[in-house]
Amino acid sequence: MTDQAVLQSVLDRAAAGGRITKEEALDLYRHAPLHALGQAADAVRRRRYAGTEHIATYIIERNINYTNVCVTACKFCAFYAAPKDAKKGWSRDLDDILRRCAETVELGGTQIMFQGGHHPDYGVEYYEHHFSAIKKDFPQLVIHSLGASEVEHMARISGVSAEEAIQRIHAAGLDSFAGAGAELLPERPRTAIAPLKESGERWLEIMEIAHKLGVESTSTMLMGTGETNAERIEHIAMIRDTQDRTGGFRAFIPYTYQPENNRLKGRTQATIFEYLRMIAIARLFLDNIAHIQGSWLTVGKEAGQLSLHYGADDLGSIMLEENVVSSAGAKHRSNRQEIIDLIRKAGRTPAQRATTYEHLLVHDDPANDPVDERVVSHISSTAIEGGTAHPELKLISTN
Ligand code: SF4
Repeated sequence: MTDQAVLQSVLDRAAAGGRITKEEALDLYRHAPLHALGQAADAVRRRRYAGTEHIATYIIERNINYTNVCVTACKFCAFYAAPKDAKKGWSRDLDDILRRCAETVELGGTQIMFQGGHHPDYGVEYYEHHFSAIKKDFPQLVIHSLGASEVEHMARISGVSAEEAIQRIHAAGLDSFAGAGAELLPERPRTAIAPLKESGERWLEIMEIAHKLGVESTSTMLMGTGETNAERIEHIAMIRDTQDRTGGFRAFIPYTYQPENNRLKGRTQATIFEYLRMIAIARLFLDNIAHIQGSWLTVGKEAGQLSLHYGADDLGSIMLEENVVSSAGAKHRSNRQEIIDLIRKAGRTPAQRATTYEHLLVHDDPANDPVDERVVSHISSTAIEGGTAHPELKLISTN
């Protein structure tokens, strides 16, 4: 067989539901024609969601960045402030956090993503206190937040095991982990961009502990900081191996590195084509993960829309607030109607989903589309840090 014939036979096997090896995935990632990758990945998606394959989902959530103070100093991060940097560092008090939760509920949000730096004083007790306060006032909000890196950090601060930290914050209200901090799991690229973070093996080990304790998560990948194609495939292979044991990853979400305001200047961002190839390979290779998410916030709306033809079944969140990737240069913003329209123009029926992917509202008739234009993504960090109450929300409000 020719090389192309070999690639096609691997694609056919994957499209029919067969498992592909790491080596085959790398071959496909490097050499398969883009349209053939997309076709095979879309076939897998349609089969997995037979009956609802016409639907693509989104969720309404709010990122609550509770502090930017961080001891971990990742080189790609434009968000953090060193603990000594009193001018740049900030933390939100509980009243501020609860006010943001109230606005989330008011605007129809169902989930909050608590996301912040590794503050040197924030141990398990801090998260117990905040999650229980949020759940007391807003039991309807799902706390889909943090990740293995935060668990490692808070457990160290409090002098407890990762297992105890997870049990305690879960009991206080954490529903699931957001899977942040995975970055690149293989050692070389991880050490190059986040030398003070726990190892990739440890990140997976903590996720495995969480899954076994009944706390599910998503998984992520940061593309474009100088990693090789083989390291990208190794990253998803490490996730697939863990998933074979736990089944606790609900979704895989690759997103692209944003190159502004950080210490990795000069690194190449992943291209849209690399991103789409990764979405397709993820759908083909991660046969044990249900959802593949297109991340329009970093790659843009059109690429996000295209991802729906390359194996993605979900476009992630309409976020009421986001400061972390926007600090690094992500400039895309949208509102709910735009996301609904993007999904429709991709030939799918949009549906608002819950954290656990149930369809909450299927937009099958444009005449019944929601009209609340306040549901936007994203709000700039300057708007947030200025301390006023969401000027951009008011600016585009139709009410
Ligand atoms: S990515 Fe997270 S852990 Fe790393 S420096 Fe930024 S805030 Fe800290």
